[in-house]
Amino acid sequence: MPWVDNDDCVGCGICADQCPVDAIRMEDNKAIIDMDSCIRCGICHGICPKNAVKHDSEKIHDEVEANVAYTRELMRACAEHLGDESEKQKCLNRLIKHFKKDKLVAEKTLEKIEALKGE
Ligand code: SF4
Ligand code: SF4
Repeated sequence: MPWVDNDDCVGCGICADQCPVDAIRMEDNKAIIDMDSCIRCGICHGICPKNAVKHDSEKIHDEVEANVAYTRELMRACAEHLGDESEKQKCLNRLIKHFKKDKLVAEKTLEKIEALKGE
């Protein structure tokens, strides 16, 4: 999914003018993409003069760090609310299952949508 790096966006509005489904609006001189409306056509990536529209892959590091922080927070919360430090590891095991499930969903989805090639 495309996203706008506010540090690079200069608010020219070109992307908002060119988006075929009006998924981009300007706020405080910055472009904001409505992910529910975006059809992933890629036009905004190609036309931004400041290269401010980024790809999903450019967020991988941040998303991984957010998942680690989320895991640490739930481990802490389990220990606190259940009153037992050993709950941390049980919570961690549940989070490992949760992220493994997400991985499986992504793998199986990829298998199925690769089969759509040529449709
Ligand atoms: S085209 Fe680029 S710089 Fe211009 S508003 Fe869109 S994201 Fe910002
Ligand atoms: S990818 Fe296409 S639909 Fe999505 S915001 Fe960019 S121009 Fe609009």
